[in-house]
Amino acid sequence: MLTITPVNALSDNYIWIIQKNKQPDVVIVDPGQAEPVIKYLTENKLQPVAILITHQHYDHTGGVADLLDLFPAMSVTGPYKAPSENKLSIDLSIPDLITYTVGEGDTVFLPELETKFEVISIPGHTLDHLAYVNEELVFCGDAMFGAGCGRIFSGTAQMFADSMAKLAALAENTRMYPAHEYTVDNLGFAKWVEPDNKDIIERDIMEMEKQEQGLPTLPSSVKLELATNPFMRLQQPQVKQAAEKFAGRELHEDWEVFAALREWKDSEYD
Ligand SMILES: [Zn+2]
Repeated sequence: MLTITPVNALSDNYIWIIQKNKQPDVVIVDPGQAEPVIKYLTENKLQPVAILITHQHYDHTGGVADLLDLFPAMSVTGPYKAPSENKLSIDLSIPDLITYTVGEGDTVFLPELETKFEVISIPGHTLDHLAYVNEELVFCGDAMFGAGCGRIFSGTAQMFADSMAKLAALAENTRMYPAHEYTVDNLGFAKWVEPDNKDIIERDIMEMEKQEQGLPTLPSSVKLELATNPFMRLQQPQVKQAAEKFAGRELHEDWEVFAALREWKDSEYD
């Protein structure tokens, strides 16, 4: 059985550590910072064997070089070299550190953990964004957050809506591991969109309790997101109506609803 443990990094990042049956070999997902990971590995006497990267923003890759200095035998799996499209993109140093460049349909084998992940391409937040999926869980980086989704940096709303649909199509009980703790904040916006949605109101109470106790609200699940995440509920009449009210016109396609919600949240909520 895989155990997934969060290491807190930067202001609100989670670096997920994958372990199998309490064995010492572990895999690190999106190490935006090296220090907290090294501390966690040392305290727990763990040996990292691989790094998985969902996309090349610095808060997901900033720790790769230092970790490789300490653990040079590790492999690094990540996306193709993304065009440096904005200030958050890191320079060319990280692609050079990637051992295995992967994309849609590839399989990542992790022999030390006797496990494998399928790679799916979920562009929208960035063009290079990947998710790593198996039958029980998905690492989805900055594409999807608890009750929300990432901002659009280099992708388009249409791409992003398709990517959300791809995540939504995973089995209902798939556990979802995004890379940031934004759930409670996102639920505030979800309540703007659907003030009468009881699942959102209930989740808000549940997640606030966790946060007050200093616990992560993650992982989430596909089932929970389908019930409470407006960006995964684009076809729900109340979501569509709220998006149309913001846009001031009728919206015909799912991606248009997505675009209006994203613009509404960016301009008036965040
Ligand atoms: Zn990002």
